[in-house]
Amino acid sequence: MFDYHVHTEFSCDCATPMARSCVAAIDAGITEIAFTDHVDHQPTDPGFGYYRTEDYFRSLDDARREFGNRLTILAGAEVDFHTDTFDAVERFIDANAARYDFIIGSVHYAANGAMIYPPLYDDRSLDDVFDPYLDEIEAAVRTGWFSTIGHIDIPKRYLPKSKRTYEPADLWERLQPVFRAMVESNVGFEINTSGIRQAPKSSMPGPAIVRWYADAGGTRITTGTDSHTERTIGAGVPLTLEMLRLCGIPNVMSFRNRVGTPVPIDRLLARSAA
Ligand SMILES: [Zn+2]
Ligand SMILES: [Zn+2]
Repeated sequence: MFDYHVHTEFSCDCATPMARSCVAAIDAGITEIAFTDHVDHQPTDPGFGYYRTEDYFRSLDDARREFGNRLTILAGAEVDFHTDTFDAVERFIDANAARYDFIIGSVHYAANGAMIYPPLYDDRSLDDVFDPYLDEIEAAVRTGWFSTIGHIDIPKRYLPKSKRTYEPADLWERLQPVFRAMVESNVGFEINTSGIRQAPKSSMPGPAIVRWYADAGGTRITTGTDSHTERTIGAGVPLTLEMLRLCGIPNVMSFRNRVGTPVPIDRLLARSAA
């Protein structure tokens, strides 16, 4: 099984060294792990300027030397994308993409440089949040820079109580051009399992969006826990593999040098049961 979304001490919101996460991954039956630290581009973001590329790769080399015979360790990044910061993201990609196996493109900001956290939702309808957010996702997909899209329906995580009526079906039509862009650009999305263990108590995205993506011809899904501590490495991945299978997705993607290969879910589940 694969955990392709794990933060380390090179993210400003995480203090866990890679070695500890490698031990936890092996214990959890994870066979491939991608260390995907934040690469933030909004100047106001707490993580802006925090990521140290050279130190990250030195630490990755150390982890590979120590654990490489028991665990496949991928060079990854979670790159914050927004059309406002397009040029800065492009500079990072041009200079560094070739060094990575796997790059998540995530949108963490709405229009006007506001994070997609409360209180953004107080005076907006859900459409007011999701419409511009999904425009950004589509733009991220069309760049061709990313191996996968992170937590595609993350706005649902931060909905205030008054807006918990969120129904994925309301997004069906709005998602179609996003899926088209994904199929045309050979980019899919991750199932981010962090939503299962915290708000909103379901994966990001959940089964409905997976099913519609499959209906639109999408096949490229990755699995990641978005772990900020070693305690959650691998959490929810077996459940997610079962969910994918039920939604008509028979494979998850494995990556090397930003090239994805489908791996049958049946094979992963059989191996983890053995
Ligand atoms: Zn994120
Ligand atoms: Zn993350």
